[in-house]
Amino acid sequence: MDNLEQNIRQLVEEVIKSMNLPSTSINKEKKLGVFSNLNMAVEASDIAFKEFTKISLETRKKIIANIRKTSSEYNEILSKMAHEETGLGRWEDKIIKNTLGIDKTPGVEDIVPETYTDDNGLTLIERAPFGVIGSITPSTNSTITIISNAIGMVAAGNAVVFNPHPSAKKVSASIISLLNTAIIEAGGPVNLVTCIDEPTIESAKELMAHKKIAIMVVTGGPAVVKTAMNSGKKVIGAGPGNPPVVVDETANIPKAAKDIVDGASFDNNVICICEKEVIVVESVADRLKEEMKKHGAFELTGDQIKKITELVICDPGGPGHEGAAEKTYVGKNADFIAKAIGLNVPSTTRLLICEVDRNHPLVWTEQLMPVMPIVRVKDVDTAIDLAVDCEHGFRHTAMMHSLNIEKLTKMAKAMNCSIFIKNGPSYAGLGKGGAGFASFTIASPTGEGVTRARTFSRERRCTLVDYLRII
Ligand code: NAD
Repeated sequence: MDNLEQNIRQLVEEVIKSMNLPSTSINKEKKLGVFSNLNMAVEASDIAFKEFTKISLETRKKIIANIRKTSSEYNEILSKMAHEETGLGRWEDKIIKNTLGIDKTPGVEDIVPETYTDDNGLTLIERAPFGVIGSITPSTNSTITIISNAIGMVAAGNAVVFNPHPSAKKVSASIISLLNTAIIEAGGPVNLVTCIDEPTIESAKELMAHKKIAIMVVTGGPAVVKTAMNSGKKVIGAGPGNPPVVVDETANIPKAAKDIVDGASFDNNVICICEKEVIVVESVADRLKEEMKKHGAFELTGDQIKKITELVICDPGGPGHEGAAEKTYVGKNADFIAKAIGLNVPSTTRLLICEVDRNHPLVWTEQLMPVMPIVRVKDVDTAIDLAVDCEHGFRHTAMMHSLNIEKLTKMAKAMNCSIFIKNGPSYAGLGKGGAGFASFTIASPTGEGVTRARTFSRERRCTLVDYLRII
């Protein structure tokens, strides 16, 4: 992978040369936007933010377009780098995931002003930036969280300092360099997006406490969201999920089966929205499993289920307790996980499925791997009740396959999630095969839902009394 990094470094150096940037604006290693010290990164982004406020909206649109273009050009390289560095997921799926975020994260068009006019004149509501945002990003969607957040945050006029996950620090630094080249090429300031080369939990805490950071946007598990919420700053918190998928007797079973395998095995289940447990009405349970097997699922039985549970669960979850998965197997291929219990499955296997009872640890734990528990229940109402319980009140994501509009509506209301997908794979909720825009920061704990440029803006009202209304 050294060649790939070399490739990116070369591009960055060429841009630096062609831009004639003052040497003071670049760090020693000539990786644009990457600093060895957090305070330096924040100070550099603060200067960039001030320059950015003087730049026109037209230039801002060009910057976003160039971020999309550059990220697309380097998508395959970045996907392979992320896979190699983190050991998570499938690089082919990461290309699709990145394309979705690059193309469908809203840009400057998302912060259009609103106007009100009446007998008293005109009121204008515009969306202003917060300033320098601190963004903490996960290992699981390491590349696209940075790209997608950068698009939304810069489109809203902000600068951003990223504290990436330590296990994705190299690929993250490469993205930051690429984003800087794209921004500079399109007429923006250097260091509008920055990061540090050795991010840690300590540097994340430093970022949260820095006085020049206006707000924190935190994407990760429960610990980081909790820590950020205690920082005293405004937080947009995107936390964990444990998305259930309910299938009832009215569903189109072959389609439901394919959608579940496709969604749950996408990037080996590392995305927070992926289906994590299936709850199926007993009259269609056998058919659902048979159909899932036609689309790349392999069913574990008897002792294999016991062995796989002992392998991949290190803290068994249960009602009211989230549990924890064994990190060694997070984001690994299904055949690799099967091999670890002495089972050879075809390398084309996308998902290991196993029928378990409702109290089984796999149902209550966010495994983030292609091991899918299936629970058989007597009717759809029981399925919905269990789905609400095992989602732990995260209010993140849930799916349902049904043609009964009353039950679809019942479950949508009962789950009360940021994303609810009816009759589709989980990624339809992020705009792939479903209507709408994409984001990889889904803020359930703080309520913003699927974030976008307007989420990263402050609303400002300007009222002009008596005049300027033209009718
Ligand atoms: P993680 O929580 O281990 O790490 C996320 C980030 O937080 C990293 O940058 C890490 O260094 C930092 N961090 C972790 N603990 C911290 C603490 N106590 N103080 C300060 N910083 C801390 O998560 P991960 O394994 O990289 O990602 C998987 C988790 O993130 C899953 O739970 C998944 O559901 C969640 N996630 C949620 C979303 C969403 O949009 N809601 C998106 C992606 C991932």
